[in-house]
Amino acid sequence: MENGNITFTMIKPCAVKQEKEFDILLDIKNAGFKIIALKKTKLSKEQAQKFYEIHKDRPFYKELCDFMSSGPIYAACLKKENAVNDFRKLIGNTNPELAEKNTIRKKYALSIQENAVHGSDSNENASIETKFFFSNLEIFE
Ligand code: ADP
Ligand code: MG
Repeated sequence: MENGNITFTMIKPCAVKQEKEFDILLDIKNAGFKIIALKKTKLSKEQAQKFYEIHKDRPFYKELCDFMSSGPIYAACLKKENAVNDFRKLIGNTNPELAEKNTIRKKYALSIQENAVHGSDSNENASIETKFFFSNLEIFE
C-alpha cells in the first residue's frame, strides 16, 4: 500500500439496513476511487470498542459502539491520489445537517451518529484501519 494514496471506509449499519450500500459504492467509484479491498462483516461490541478507542472518553462512545455493532457493515480500502482528503470531502461533515449538498452524508445519513459512512482522518489511520480488517492477501491494487 502506497502511503498517501489509500483511505479506509465503512458503510455503517444504518446505510446497510436501508440497502444503500451499492448506491454509496457507486458514488465512491464515480468520484474516482478504486476499491482495492471490500468485505461485508459485522463488528462485535469488542471490535467496535477497539476500532473507536480514540473516542473512549467522548460522551457518545458507548452509543457509538452499540450502533456500530448493531448490524452488518461493509469495510473497504480505497485507492486514489490524495485519498484521505478527497474522501473526507466526498463524505462531508460528521453532522449531515452541516454536510454540503451531494456529499454521501448529506444524501444518506440519518443523524450525526447514524451518518452512513466512516472515512479515515489521516494516512497513518488509513493504514491502521485497513489492517484492522484486511490481510495483504485481501488487497488487490
Ligand atoms: P468522523 O466520522 O466525521 O471522523 P468523529 O471521528 O468525530 O467523526 O466521530 C466518529 C463517529 O462518532 C461519527 O462518525 C459519528 O458516527 C459518531 N459521533 C460523532 N460525534 C457525535 C455526537 N456528537 N453524537 C453522537 N455520535 C457522534
Ligand atoms: Mg473520525
